Amino acid sequence: MNYRKALLLSVITIFSVTACETPDASSAQSPTALFSEPWNSGLDAAEADFQIQQIDPNTFAIRQSLHTTFEAPFLYLIFGTDKVILVDTGVEGVDLRSIVDQQIEAWLLANGQEKVSLIVAHSHAHGDHVGGDDGFSDRPDTVVVGHSPEDIAKFFNIDAWPVSTKAVDLGDRMVDILPTPGHHDSHIMIYDRTTDILFSGDTIYPGRIYFRCGNIAELKASIDRIADFSSTNNIRWVLGAHIEMTTEPGQSFQSEDRTRQNEHALELQPGIINDMHAALGAMIDAPRVESFDEFVLFPIPTDPRGKTPPDWCKADNASE
Ligand SMILES: [Zn+2]
Repeated sequence: MNYRKALLLSVITIFSVTACETPDASSAQSPTALFSEPWNSGLDAAEADFQIQQIDPNTFAIRQSLHTTFEAPFLYLIFGTDKVILVDTGVEGVDLRSIVDQQIEAWLLANGQEKVSLIVAHSHAHGDHVGGDDGFSDRPDTVVVGHSPEDIAKFFNIDAWPVSTKAVDLGDRMVDILPTPGHHDSHIMIYDRTTDILFSGDTIYPGRIYFRCGNIAELKASIDRIADFSSTNNIRWVLGAHIEMTTEPGQSFQSEDRTRQNEHALELQPGIINDMHAALGAMIDAPRVESFDEFVLFPIPTDPRGKTPPDWCKADNASE
């Protein structure tokens, strides 16, 4: 998520929970298929800046608190025996470095290892995904991957951005780097062959999938490639970088809500890939803001002034 504030607040209410809907205090967040605890959703005044949940002993999801940013992004740590990848660094202003250091120390202790190299990578370079980078600049045995497509292709040795993929060996664990521009030029997804999880950033998640009107073909091409990839790789779960949908199909939270009830689960079934593929295909010639059960396609013109959603991209806006 990143196209925000004034631009969106005027229109998001159309697609959001209506003001007269009263949250049901008894229906607190529930554990989900993949996570034993509900995710912090700003309701507890004392909630920590970060909440960490284990997916397996070598894979962790971290949520930045809604108290620190309405984006409340999800970050991931994926451990191999030689290298650990941190996927995204969240929004600036909080101490992510200490949390990651503690997590790595605990993992080293549990595994009887002395060291593991850290790769700080990003789903893409919007500010809510790279904000904590500076905290890692002086960390020993650490590489912070650059933010441009060229930087990423060079670091991971990707031959032909964005159409080729690259397998990366973390040490007894292989992940695939999948370039997926559309939401952002340097967007990647990461597929973990061990857990069969696709870490999908801001390109697939239960929320508003933002893209420039003129980028729909690029986004659709990325989803086409992911659909192809999913036909030959066993994807069990798709884990994105935010939650913006409620448990009510087609309903999203207002973008700057700092407390939420009845959030959609973070994890999505792999069928979401084909759902998005079909949805993008249906609007390829006429992109418009449209809600689906688990996501909202949200094309945005470069300059929305004087134009009306959901048909922002119509006619003279189409080239934007
Ligand atoms: Zn985001």
